[in-house]
This record gives sequence, structure tokens and C-alpha cells, in this order.
Amino acid sequence: MRIILLGPPGAGKGTQAKTLAEEIRLPHISTGDLLRKNVSLNTDLGKQAQDYMNKGALVPDELVNQMMIDRISQDDAQAGFILDGYPRNLAQAEILDKALVARGKQIDLVIYLDTSEAVVIQRLSGRLVCKKCGANFHSTNMPPKKTGICDNCGGALYQRSDDTEATIRKRLQVYRNECSPLIKYYQEKGKLQRLVADGEARKVLVDIVGLVRKHHDSLKV
Ligand code: AMP
Repeated sequence: MRIILLGPPGAGKGTQAKTLAEEIRLPHISTGDLLRKNVSLNTDLGKQAQDYMNKGALVPDELVNQMMIDRISQDDAQAGFILDGYPRNLAQAEILDKALVARGKQIDLVIYLDTSEAVVIQRLSGRLVCKKCGANFHSTNMPPKKTGICDNCGGALYQRSDDTEATIRKRLQVYRNECSPLIKYYQEKGKLQRLVADGEARKVLVDIVGLVRKHHDSLKV
């Protein structure tokens, strides 16, 4: 099954995708994580992407598309995947569709995590990420058991450099201009399911898993 999680930064895409991936045993593919890995390894791609990321702007399509197509071509992604942070604009959605059609595949389900701006800002400004395993925590909503330490793997927690107020506002503006047309795109294809995602992560996960199971059963009929 090929699933996309859509929604503004701070909607909980990363947190939900990680848990869902374990639940349904499909890889979680996050363009943000892949780009941050390239930045930390100082690859050519990382060097080209870094400035855009620090400003909260989108990394140019040609860089991200190639990275993504390479990733979904890997063996572990053949039975399906959960995409988080991609596509981010219509051009990327069209490239993804073409790449899948060329492989005789398609996107099965797009879940839009509908989140209010106030919740997004509160979540992002307190977000803490594990350097080692990428797990997300929050200074007040979901604090780690030990300050600064990941509950899952003991790695150090840090605040993302683009989770500052000015960059958060820029990322929300980019989201409104570039990403929100995707809602209509997938709605017209009959693939979009909308979920209110302002609530607690555990409750949102129950709704997501419910949608995925329902869809999976309908695919088998
Ligand atoms: P995220 O972790 O999804 O919040 O992404 C962090 C940053 O990575 C974004 O603000 C962009 O600069 C970049 N990025 C992630 N995904 C994409 C994408 N699909 N297209 C362009 N830039 C992206």
C-alpha cells in the first residue's frame, strides 16, 4: 500500500508516520529526514539543500525528485511506503505519479492531517528531535522521561534549526502557497481522506490506522 501523509509543518506527519510504519510494516520515507541526513554528511546534495532549509524555503524540485525516486526504487519500498513531506507541490505530485505509473503502481491513499495554525506554532516551537533515531518529543506535550535524552534509544535531543518563530512563519506561508493545492489534486482523484489532527497524537493515530485498515480491506475485496 502506498500512502501519503499531507498537512502543514507541525501537523504530526513525522510522528504519525513513524508509528504507522511500525504498525503496518512499511517504510516511512521523509524527504526532510533524507535531506537533513545529507546535510549532516555534507554530501553535494546536502550542501545545495542547506540554505533553502535554513530559510524555510523548498529545496528545488530537481534535487528532491531525484532523491525521492531513488528512494522509492529501493527493495524495501516495493510492497509500499508511507510518504511524509513529499510531494510538497503540484509538480512533485505529477512527477511521483509518472514514476509510479512507469512501474505499474499508484498512490492508494492520501491522508490530510487538518491542523490549526495555533496548534502548529505551539507544536513546532516546543519540538525536540532525537539525533540518533529521529524520534520526536515536545517540551510540554510529550516530554522525554529524562530531559534532553531520547526515551527510545538514549540519543541526544535537539531543536531543529528551522523550528524558530521566523522560519516557522515562512514555512507556513510556503505551505499555504505551494502545498495546499495538493489537497484539491488528490481530492479530484478520489484519494484524499481528511482527519482533524489538532488533538493528542495517540488519538490521531487511532483514526489514521482505522482509515488505513478500511482502505486496505476495500483493496482486497
Ligand atoms: P520537513 O522535515 O518535512 O519539515 O522539511 C524540512 C525542510 O526540508 C523543508 O522546510 C524544506 O526546506 C525541505 N524539504 C522537505 N521536503 C521537501 C520537498 N518535498 N520539496 C522541497 N523541499 C523539501
